[in-house]
Amino acid sequence: MFSPENALCSELSSLFAQGLTRKLRALDTPCLPLVRAGEEELLSFASNDYLGLAAHPTLARALADGALAWGSGSGASHLISGHLKPHALLEEALANFLGFPRCLTFSSGYLANLAVTPTLAAGRDDAIFADRLNHASLIDAARLSRARQQRYPHGDLKALQRLLSASKAKTKVIVTDAVFSMDGDIAPLAGLWELAEQFDAWLVVDDAHGFGVLGERGAGSLSYCGLPPHPGIILMGTLGKAAGVGGAFVAASETVIEYLLNKARSFIFTTAQPPALAVAALASLHLISESDARRAHLRNLIRQLRAALSALPWPLLPSATAIQPVLVGDNQTALSLSEVLRKRGVWVPAIRPPTVPQGMARLRVSLSAAHNEEDVTRLAKALHEAGREMA
Ligand SMILES: *Cc1c(COP(=O)(O)O)cnc(C)c1O
Repeated sequence: MFSPENALCSELSSLFAQGLTRKLRALDTPCLPLVRAGEEELLSFASNDYLGLAAHPTLARALADGALAWGSGSGASHLISGHLKPHALLEEALANFLGFPRCLTFSSGYLANLAVTPTLAAGRDDAIFADRLNHASLIDAARLSRARQQRYPHGDLKALQRLLSASKAKTKVIVTDAVFSMDGDIAPLAGLWELAEQFDAWLVVDDAHGFGVLGERGAGSLSYCGLPPHPGIILMGTLGKAAGVGGAFVAASETVIEYLLNKARSFIFTTAQPPALAVAALASLHLISESDARRAHLRNLIRQLRAALSALPWPLLPSATAIQPVLVGDNQTALSLSEVLRKRGVWVPAIRPPTVPQGMARLRVSLSAAHNEEDVTRLAKALHEAGREMA
């Protein structure tokens, strides 16, 4: 065999031995609570479709109408000729909805994150202060910058304050997930903003899991934490999770947006997302703002699940959001638990390093407003049975 390929094979075997290989699975059904993969029918707690909009007929129709009106592709990057009316309308609607002066849209949250931090903190004299549990895309964003990255213990404002006060950096950027993607807890945004103001730092908030779900009319984590928009705050949100479509946005001051669109490489050097997606995202924004009933239903399911799982052999992490992780610890145990559930027709993915720290493997239960109480009851029953089976 071609010997560089040999090296890949042996690394894959070693990943397999550690319970760390990942598998792709193609579903034969849309993103709904009940999915089918070949012969298997599974009750899924595996998506980020928190409001149950990913397969909503209104959005599917908006996407189809958008494609008929605007074609399938944008044809170019935003700054060349790919910025079409639907993109502009979406940006304006998002800015209005969030109360920020201006928005910029991206094809994905990953690209949006790559645009913000390394553009604000580009030089060797700058510093990035990042929560240790930040999403991989924020970590990669910091890697694209020449700035020094300092990671503070999860949610630890005291530690962050010490780092900030010792820092001589020219530009300081504090970066955090708003809702931590694998833990479900919410960052102390008000405290982070106090520190940002005290030390003249930017605050970059990644609200991938809060936008649409938390806060007034689904405006997200800033609203949930009572933090109004401010020129020093840059908000990133994704449109492929609660919004059920795809893409992302950055909301900020006029100056910051103007700066990003002139300087951010992951905005400049990529094709604008298909305009039909912007049409669908705009329709989703309307649905989101009218979805108080969906959010209330989701909160009820969260309460129901936490009550039903309090006596499980493994602890639930202290989360108040739709992300409800069951902390298992060991990689193989997490995988086996996920397998046992799957045999009972319930799908909850096992999350292992490097997505989470060593020894912190977990099942990540993700609830959606598309679930009903019977679904949650079935999940709880399956988890309790699996607990007894594996004891
Ligand atoms: C999913 C996610 C992203 C990436 O967003 P995509 O639109 O999926 O690329 C960024 N940050 C966090 C916290 C996420 O969970």
